[in-house]
Amino acid sequence: MEEHRVLMNIAYPDDKELFEIQKTAALEHFPPDEAEVRAKMAVDYIRTGERKTQEETIQENKPGIVKLASNFMKAVSRHVKSGAKQVDKETYEKRMSICDTCVFRQGNRCSHASCGCFLAKKASWKSESCPIGRW
Ligand code: SF4
Repeated sequence: MEEHRVLMNIAYPDDKELFEIQKTAALEHFPPDEAEVRAKMAVDYIRTGERKTQEETIQENKPGIVKLASNFMKAVSRHVKSGAKQVDKETYEKRMSICDTCVFRQGNRCSHASCGCFLAKKASWKSESCPIGRW
């Protein structure tokens, strides 16, 4: 096992490439949200030898306050530029029901590293999409 980890480190020095390989493998067994987290857990393990839980991985990778503010401002900008359009009630409810089953949902926020937005707003804005393509 340790030998495999060392070999993976040598073969894949680029984190993004290693993540994509792990994610492709995880998608064969898990839904997209869980596959993302499991791929990140695998990369962390390969790089450090430390095994983290799913919850620890989500917490460590969720956007900090600066990134969160930046992501939110980008979302607001897209929303305004697109004419501040809202989705219909059915679409909103469908989006929220998908978020309800997602490992990245933490309370009323999406904790994915490239998001962090309030879900009630994000799901209601036509310009927005799920960062992992679930809606
Ligand atoms: S927006 Fe996507 S990643 Fe975020 S909680 Fe909803 S389904 Fe999950």
